[in-house]
Amino acid sequence: MQRPIASFSLLGVSIRLDASWILLALLIAWSLAAGVFPDLYRGLPQSTYWGMAAATVVGIAASIILHELGHTLVARAFGLPIKSITLFVFGGVAEMEGEPKAPRAELFMALAGPLVSVALGFGFSLLANFLEGSAPTEYHAVLHYLGTLNFTLAAFNMAPAFPLDGGRVLRALIWLVTGDSLKATRIAARSGEIIAVLLMGLGAFSALTMGLVHGLWWIVLGWFILSMASAHRKEAEARQLLSGMRVGDLMTPDPVSAAADMSVEDFVETVLARFPHDLIPVVADGRVIGAAGFQEAKRTRRQDWPSTGLAAIVTPITDIPTADSSLEIETALDRMQKARASRLIVLDQGRLVGILTLKDLANHLRFKAEFSKPA
Ligand SMILES: [Zn+2]
Repeated sequence: MQRPIASFSLLGVSIRLDASWILLALLIAWSLAAGVFPDLYRGLPQSTYWGMAAATVVGIAASIILHELGHTLVARAFGLPIKSITLFVFGGVAEMEGEPKAPRAELFMALAGPLVSVALGFGFSLLANFLEGSAPTEYHAVLHYLGTLNFTLAAFNMAPAFPLDGGRVLRALIWLVTGDSLKATRIAARSGEIIAVLLMGLGAFSALTMGLVHGLWWIVLGWFILSMASAHRKEAEARQLLSGMRVGDLMTPDPVSAAADMSVEDFVETVLARFPHDLIPVVADGRVIGAAGFQEAKRTRRQDWPSTGLAAIVTPITDIPTADSSLEIETALDRMQKARASRLIVLDQGRLVGILTLKDLANHLRFKAEFSKPA
């Protein structure tokens, strides 16, 4: 995710506004002030419509944040830390550290968001009805709109299209029944792909019949869900193929390494130039003390290369994903994902035995795909 343009903290969770969301908020405000509200409530001054639109946009943002906060607080109760909530063009995303480890946790987490939206829907609607007789039109108009919006948000998110909330509920239920999380992901993601394609089809239909802008929104949304669902399904399939394998089965043994006492100049010219990797293990006295690559070299001024030892610029081993060769591939993949790294150093009591890269895994999957086909 890109850098947010604004962020604040609520109940210990960092809430970030993505630039795309601000753009969307302006678009929504404009369509409310120039179209929706003047159509529904005639005869008000234009400045009132803009005021209503601004209040509604703030209400929408608060509604989405509360929805995501619902997910977050339940996740936290199950011991899954949530790093941040980001508002971007299609609503909110709560960024988890890893996936839930049990179907019950996933089920309650997924349901919490839509339940908050339903509660907000009732809250706004009741307040709107309460104020309808006494307060000026603009107040209950905004509240009515926010009530309906929250019900819509809950309904849309409950579509069984993984990774939407409803898809997560579906996955949790299949997982609960079969005990197989990867199978559950595959089915829920497949359902997400089908719904996404239907959404795009509907979008194309309404683009032709009701106007391009109307349909385009559904096409983009469908495409977005399709790409996320496909990515999750492919990952689940890959994990299934790799299950039971160990790091030692797929790693590249005896990888290139560099000595900690060489200069940065030597490292760049003799090692990096021939093996242009991002994570070259650096060894001192037979033990891996860290890794270095382009990033580390670039951080050092060029004129200092000859006089600087590699040990001085190395990223310490504690900051790098590592594994024992007997570790299961799935756990290794989790470690790489958590560190956002494409390589992992394989150690045996501090000594270098190999390197595992995503490319190794992809090659192996290709091998399996090529040779497990029926002849
Ligand atoms: Zn949600």
